[in-house]
Amino acid sequence: MNFLEERIVKDGVVKPGNVLKVDSFLNHQMDVKLFDKMGEEFAKRFEKKKINKILTIEASGIGIASVVALHFDVPVVFAKKTQSINLDGDMYTASVESFTHKNINNVIVSKKFLTKDDHVLIIDDFLANGCALMGLIQIVNAAHATVEGIGIAIEKGFQSGGHIIRNLGYQLESLAIIDSMDDVTGEIKFKDPNETM
Ligand code: 5GP
Repeated sequence: MNFLEERIVKDGVVKPGNVLKVDSFLNHQMDVKLFDKMGEEFAKRFEKKKINKILTIEASGIGIASVVALHFDVPVVFAKKTQSINLDGDMYTASVESFTHKNINNVIVSKKFLTKDDHVLIIDDFLANGCALMGLIQIVNAAHATVEGIGIAIEKGFQSGGHIIRNLGYQLESLAIIDSMDDVTGEIKFKDPNETM
């Protein structure tokens, strides 16, 4: 098990509805030393890519993306969630269905902060069905920028997002891929990193 898998086993809590709670170290209370290790690992996995910007989505992607950005020495832009659709043309927008809240959010990024010259690494905390990532990819494409890669902390490998995103040809790197989890026993099994995806 790698450092993140070990932490998930120690402090993660499996909830009904395929939800893993990691709020003691990842998305409520935040262990920034753990984020720093994640940044080190992403820097290795994307070392061949020329990345000049990190893009994430509020709220829980922001903490991780900020620490990861130190390893790439680049700014972080986060897609903001909003109820109103902006019509003045200054924003790129996408609609994203929330896996945890089951509602639909419009997410926006100012055109000032994403342009055709940007080579973007997308970072997020979880990958489930891929809605958040598809929204972010849509925004990068609308800006005629380039998605150089996608870094995820925890991928739930039994949900469809990872498959969809890899089939689209993106370099998707997830630091922990959960194969199965059981909300009755609390058992979490990870995908063997040597298995091909
Ligand atoms: P997707 O859009 O891939 O279906 O879901 C990804 C988003 O939903 C992430 O940004 C994350 O905030 C949230 N999410 C999905 N699954 C989980 C989970 O098991 N636990 C937590 N805490 N958040 C999740």
